[in-house]
Amino acid sequence: RAKQSGRNQFMFFTKSLQEHAAELMETEQHLRNALELNQLSLHFQPLVRSRTGRVTGFEALLRWHHPTLGNIPPDKFIPVAEESGLIGPIGEWVLDTALMNAKSWHNQGQKLYISVNLSRRQLDLGMNEKRLGALLSKHQFDPSYLVLEITESLLLDNSDTTIIRLESIKNLGVHLAIDDFGTGYSSLSYLKRFPIDSLKIDKEFVRDLTSDSDDVELVTAIIAMARSLKLRLIAEGVETEEQRRILLRLGCEFLQGYYFAKPMPGHEVQNWLINYEPEYLSVNA
Ligand code: C2E
Ligand code: MG
Ligand code: MG
Ligand code: MG
Repeated sequence: RAKQSGRNQFMFFTKSLQEHAAELMETEQHLRNALELNQLSLHFQPLVRSRTGRVTGFEALLRWHHPTLGNIPPDKFIPVAEESGLIGPIGEWVLDTALMNAKSWHNQGQKLYISVNLSRRQLDLGMNEKRLGALLSKHQFDPSYLVLEITESLLLDNSDTTIIRLESIKNLGVHLAIDDFGTGYSSLSYLKRFPIDSLKIDKEFVRDLTSDSDDVELVTAIIAMARSLKLRLIAEGVETEEQRRILLRLGCEFLQGYYFAKPMPGHEVQNWLINYEPEYLSVNA
């Protein structure tokens, strides 16, 4: 009887694995053509100062529109891109396109930062100081306005090779930020080993800030730690004025979230900047 049920479980397991694999393969097949077919685009979301609401830069976020499958969210296709290695060419396209957009803002007199997400896999696939340097030169882009966001899990790979790679990239003059901070397991000692400039507090901690005192404590602790390590702090996922006020009071200098703006296509950025008037500018100026 045990054998029987074991067998059933096994069959169930393989079937769902097969289905899963088929789905991944299909996504991968489609993704393989996405770049050539111009199905990828970047959206940009502003980062602002918590006190004044002043815009300091934008984060580039990848979008994939497939003619029949519709919009596929990054959380679905980025893992496929990473696993298949497609994140190599796609990531290069993202950097190229993000720098092109940011350069056009600079050309119009707006010295704004551009943040670009970088997968761990991209480092393995050859994104190094030489490649990045070539892209920066191509766009004659001031490296000090580029921020590379890497997820906290990269810190778990506490290996010298990773640290050396990141250091040589950083030597170009770009900034490094840890994304989704608080969701991984990094400790102070890990943080100290990496050449990073800023931390982005994950939106999970921001969401219940107004109702959950544990989250207030957590964010307070993260802010204290960031201060002692002289890291800039950005809170993600700010959706309300109340959250902005709490984060300001706790000492978080930079914010990002739907409260200020949702990610928007590149061609809307200029117009948005012209019309953007944070209500509380006068209150806290
Ligand atoms: P992330 O880098 O942490 O980006 C922030 C995510 O939070 C974005 O989701 C953004 O649209 C969303 N967000 C911003 N403000 C709010 C808010 O107020 N409330 C809520 N609920 N969400 C908010 P998105 O665009 O779906 O991207 C998801 C993730 O996919 C990113 O998380 C990043 O890890 C990854 N990703 C996106 N673009 C790229 C890329 O070009 N390269 C790589 N390697 N990863 C990317
Ligand atoms: Mg990010
Ligand atoms: Mg994040
Ligand atoms: Mg994320």
